[in-house]
Amino acid sequence: MTSCPAFHTDAELALPPLVQARRAATCACHQPVDRHRRRLGAGASLAVAGAWGLAPLSALAAEEGVRGEVGSTSRFAKLVSAEEVEQAAQQQFTQMKQEAAGKRALAPDDHPQVLRLRAIAQRLIPYTQPWNNRASAWKWEVQLFGSKELNAFCMPGGKIAFYFGILQRLQLSDDEVAMIMGHEMAHALREHARERMGKSAATRAGAGLLSSLLGLGNLGDAALSMGAQLLSLKFSREDESEADLVGMELAARAGYDPASGVTLWQKMMKASEGAPPEFLSTHPASKTRIQEIQSHLPKVNGLYAKAARPTQRYQPPV
Ligand SMILES: [Zn+2]
Repeated sequence: MTSCPAFHTDAELALPPLVQARRAATCACHQPVDRHRRRLGAGASLAVAGAWGLAPLSALAAEEGVRGEVGSTSRFAKLVSAEEVEQAAQQQFTQMKQEAAGKRALAPDDHPQVLRLRAIAQRLIPYTQPWNNRASAWKWEVQLFGSKELNAFCMPGGKIAFYFGILQRLQLSDDEVAMIMGHEMAHALREHARERMGKSAATRAGAGLLSSLLGLGNLGDAALSMGAQLLSLKFSREDESEADLVGMELAARAGYDPASGVTLWQKMMKASEGAPPEFLSTHPASKTRIQEIQSHLPKVNGLYAKAARPTQRYQPPV
């Protein structure tokens, strides 16, 4: 960026533990994964859709969107309180902002890409509540961090981060940004981090580990990564597929083209060329992910066709 000299776009930033815990057990969200398995069949989840109790959306659930593909929240999530997880996330997000600000790598509120990200978020947020009853009380926040990494995440409670590198290096269109944002929002809405912590608590039955996952204890990184390794890779991949699905629907309802998931992942594939072998072995088959997105498009194309289009379009950073 040349227009905002006070904002450094190439800082080294540490990921918050809540994000690390998720990443350690799964792929980074922007990285390819292989086959996905669904948590529940369509029949079981229709009953869940009815229980949401929002007339306009639940009436559509059986015919439109991906609700029928997504099961109920894992029982493991209930082992950890949502409030506690959201509070820890908020704490970590604040720390991350402070660290970035100290390196002049937190984009100012009037940065063109911040305005862009927040405009896109504002279009998606109204469609989040049916996926999580707590979401209407979340204090959504979108920040742009000045790092060259390809990275974006949404922490529990709606704290969204984009790294400058993902916008610039992939030259993302608004539709592609909306797909990533929807995917990350879906992780938070579906409480994948809380579920992972609940599973970890169940496995270790240790309050010490739990507090270290929450960044509250002093067991340190060894315990954190040990806890993360215990988590099931199968569920992680499910989480990724589920986030792809739910994210597609959020973006489509907000008026962003869900087919942009295909170009997005093609860009990701290209960006991962030349990556170290371990990356390729843990994150194979990006084509599979693109094929899955393509196969799910018919479920959300109707929503996109009916959705109001964004009145303003933005360009990626040069
Ligand atoms: Zn993800």
